[in-house]
Amino acid sequence: MSLIEVKNLTHIYGEGTVFEKVALENVSLTVEKGDLIGLIGHTGSGKSTLIQHLNGLIKPTSGEILVDGKNITQKGPLIDIRQKVGLVFQYPEYQLFEETVERDISFGPVNLGLSSEEVDIRVKESMELVGLDYEIYKEKSPFELSGGQKRRVAIAGVIAMKPQVLILDEPTAGLDPRGRDEIFSEIKNLYEKGNMTIIIVSHSMEDMAKLAKRIVVMNHGKIVMDGETRDIFKREKELVEIGLGVPQITSFLIELKRRGADVNTDCITVEEA
Ligand code: ADP
Repeated sequence: MSLIEVKNLTHIYGEGTVFEKVALENVSLTVEKGDLIGLIGHTGSGKSTLIQHLNGLIKPTSGEILVDGKNITQKGPLIDIRQKVGLVFQYPEYQLFEETVERDISFGPVNLGLSSEEVDIRVKESMELVGLDYEIYKEKSPFELSGGQKRRVAIAGVIAMKPQVLILDEPTAGLDPRGRDEIFSEIKNLYEKGNMTIIIVSHSMEDMAKLAKRIVVMNHGKIVMDGETRDIFKREKELVEIGLGVPQITSFLIELKRRGADVNTDCITVEEA
């Protein structure tokens, strides 16, 4: 059984009004346990709308979503879904609000009604998974940390809920190169040591070449490609057609080569490689 199954999902914002917008049209997708997916597409292609459906934040106009075999499009307790699918929004650090890192990360588990021992264990585990030393950071205010560190605290707060799937929406947006590298190595770590299924939303093919095993490309509310990272690149013409652009594809290819992939390099110049 797939971990997530999206069947013929359509979402129309403002249906029947002058603002009507078809954001998703007949989208089907399966996510398997152990996937590390890069969800790529232009701004406005429907990525955010899709991931918000996956943890029940918005409901489909039509279609179905099964998480762990359970239909989440029917009415039911949302808390259950949020525990299965953890969503890290863009700029998640804006949602930090507690006085200390420890309290911020424990907010979700405390609200689940877990014992204080279990909450402590979860806070320590999730801080370790995002590379924040518990003793050093637990009493610090989230607001005295660097951008990359704040973001790690926010991600730890979602991981502390022990979701089966972690979805990160543009996790490196607005960070400097150091912060970006921090977050990328942390995501790799989460995937490898945290035994997680991960979906990363990005508009950067280059970033996803570094990380993703599977790439799903969206365009105008539809999934137009879905496959292994190196296979997606081979469909270069189609990528250019939907405007993902030669510079993007070039850096994507260079990154794949760096990872030792056997890809056709005819389309890039030697200096670039
Ligand atoms: P992406 O995440 O790929 O940038 P979105 O899912 O945010 O794409 O948007 C898909 C389309 O839906 C866009 O045309 C966007 O303008 C529209 N849209 C997104 N959110 C809303 C909303 N709350 N109300 C109306 N239209 C929306």
